[in-house]
Amino acid sequence: MAAAVHVEVEAQVWVEDPDVAWIDGEVIEVNGDQIKVKCTSGKTVIAKVSNVYPKDAEASPCGVDDMTKLAYLHEPGVVQNLKSRYDINEIYTYTGNILIAVNPFRRFPHLYDSHMMEQYKRAAFGELSPHPFAVADAAYRLMINEGVSQSILVSGESGAGKTESTKLLMRYLAYVGGRAAAEGRTVEQQVLESNPVLEAFGNAKTVRNNNSSRFGKFVEIQFDQRGRISGAAIRTYLLERSRVCQISDPERNYHCFYMLCSAPPEDIERYKLENPRTFHYLNQSNCFELDEVDDSKEYLATRRAMDVVGISSDEQDAIFRVLAAILHLGNIEFSEGKEIDSSIPKDENSWFHLRTAAELFMCNVKVLEDSLCKRIIVTRDESITKGLDPEAAVLRRDALAKIVYSRLFDWIVNKINNSIGQDPNSKFLIGVLDIYGFESFKTNSFEQFCINLTNEKLQQHFNQHVFKMEQEEYTKEEINWSYIEFIDNQDVLDLIEKKRGGIIALLDEACLLPRSTHETFAQKLYQTFKNHQRFSKPKLTRSDFIIRHYAGDVTYQTELFLDKNKDYVVAEHQALLSASKCPFVSGLFPPLSEDSSKSSKFSSIGSRFKQQLQALLETLNATEPHYIRCVKPNNHLKPGIFENINVLQQLRCGVLEAIRISCAGYPTRRAFDEFVYRFGILAPEVLDGSCDEITATKRLLEKVDLKGYQVTMEVNTSLQVSRLTLPKYLIIDTF
Ligand code: ATP
Ligand code: MG
Repeated sequence: MAAAVHVEVEAQVWVEDPDVAWIDGEVIEVNGDQIKVKCTSGKTVIAKVSNVYPKDAEASPCGVDDMTKLAYLHEPGVVQNLKSRYDINEIYTYTGNILIAVNPFRRFPHLYDSHMMEQYKRAAFGELSPHPFAVADAAYRLMINEGVSQSILVSGESGAGKTESTKLLMRYLAYVGGRAAAEGRTVEQQVLESNPVLEAFGNAKTVRNNNSSRFGKFVEIQFDQRGRISGAAIRTYLLERSRVCQISDPERNYHCFYMLCSAPPEDIERYKLENPRTFHYLNQSNCFELDEVDDSKEYLATRRAMDVVGISSDEQDAIFRVLAAILHLGNIEFSEGKEIDSSIPKDENSWFHLRTAAELFMCNVKVLEDSLCKRIIVTRDESITKGLDPEAAVLRRDALAKIVYSRLFDWIVNKINNSIGQDPNSKFLIGVLDIYGFESFKTNSFEQFCINLTNEKLQQHFNQHVFKMEQEEYTKEEINWSYIEFIDNQDVLDLIEKKRGGIIALLDEACLLPRSTHETFAQKLYQTFKNHQRFSKPKLTRSDFIIRHYAGDVTYQTELFLDKNKDYVVAEHQALLSASKCPFVSGLFPPLSEDSSKSSKFSSIGSRFKQQLQALLETLNATEPHYIRCVKPNNHLKPGIFENINVLQQLRCGVLEAIRISCAGYPTRRAFDEFVYRFGILAPEVLDGSCDEITATKRLLEKVDLKGYQVTMEVNTSLQVSRLTLPKYLIIDTF
């Protein structure tokens, strides 16, 4: 599209720049398809005409609140607009119906207070500044007026502000759909208080975000006929289990562990706790405290929130006891036993932690020891007990910690759901999705694979929807429009999740075959997808593979794929904990039914996740979606820093795609008066005042011999809005 720029000396353009992605400047020389540009940085650069974009010389230094108002909808224009706005603390911008939210990394309390909520409640969409409240309000109004369920999909990379935005949406919905004078624990209070509880158990400090959600979440808020919140359901996706026993500096384990270690003295004593620095599951990293967070206060706040969501004090006691047990478990070390391939707790310290863990789990200490140091092999005729070497015992110990924690998390989610309750009579709902964005790191494992599958699915949903919306708009305005190809990602989805022969199916197959390794699995992938255009094998590797995702190529390391895909409870752990004297603990491990104990050798996390996603998409497909795209302006997590290149990378994972889709049609709309005012100069003789603006516009267009535009009149009830629609490249051509 940039190739259509008609470049002359003195033209204002954007040229590529290694530091800031795009820099503006003035053309000082034109030499065929080469131009010389004097940049505002002072540098002079030579560029190809096809690599520059026109700059809107009349653009306001404060930017525009909706990207579709930009004269040029191209990359530099979009980034510049976000930056100009960010510089004046305008962190929200629309792109049509999509809200882009740039993380301010600083609090603006007035922006979210009840006065603000009241204002958005009374305003039409687009009347006030862009805001998550406006999106929530639009969803709520549509639901009430048209009786259609809605969803708000919040996306963005880690630390971009998804969870914060989600909380704002929930607060607004609780405000408009709540019972103003209601006493006690209302549904909406419970919905709101579920957030701190889930964050305590499901969030942790990572290098990307001090409060990173390590799970995906879909909150379904149900409403009654009168538009009041009448129930809710929370669904969670793929909690990161490995964090419970493995962290690296400067990250932290889940917040709840540190809160617990800062509990009041009586609780510390009850749970036999010590300084967090003494626990192996916490001291693998040097980070124990968070800036501006007082864990002892958080402990009490979490308990209060647990009260609100209906977790009784006995249950709370059991939950924290289990957390403490996990910490003690992590401190059990092993050394070689008397026999070969056997192990025993290493020293008195390890024995102490073993006894304490057993006491807190309320289980038999000897059985706990055996479940860590031995395994029972069941054959057709007999069962044989074999020792495990110290290394294997450590793995067993960690497996126990992980399964207990993940069951605990699921229990909490379930409990919240049960106590909030679902409204069986609810006719419509608003779903809010806060789920991990696209990830591409140096090493990418099974987690990234699942996360990126999620994003492919959401991208497809997004493409289809934005496309449909555009089409509806054109039909409404009676604009002729033909389907313009956009990148469809169905082929990536097939590659990953096709029932027969997709990557997940092949992974399940590998998990079931006794002799498979990650290498045989990778070989199978290479063979099967030799000619797949979305799949490739990197050179110099025997087990990595690359998927060409919509947002870029990602290289996956298969080493742990098989292990991570297997979801099973070690039989000895199941037996140990289901026999716990604490009903809460035994409740986490209900006895297996005959059937499932036979077939439970392997259940696939990948396949289950695929089904969960399927169900999520079915729900979303039954709703009218709204989108919030969160952007992280820098990786220092600091206010006031807007890094163009960084932002651009994020925009390229979806936002620009949306803009591109709308560019495929007639992206630029101008009111007649605006058009005449701005372009009248091209043919001043038409503007002799003898005709109205519509006629003047038409004459102007004829005069400059433009093609590819459409003139439309959209009739509104109160006033006639007339708009002129031009394809983007023609607008560019006019210059
Ligand atoms: P993850 O995927 O890791 O969970 P996320 O997208 O959910 O990341 P958040 O936890 O919502 O990111 O935001 C990260 C941090 O950024 C917050 O803890 C907060 O400090 C800051 N932040 C985000 N949005 C806002 C906002 N609107 N106002 C002020 N600060 C914000
Ligand atoms: Mg989050």
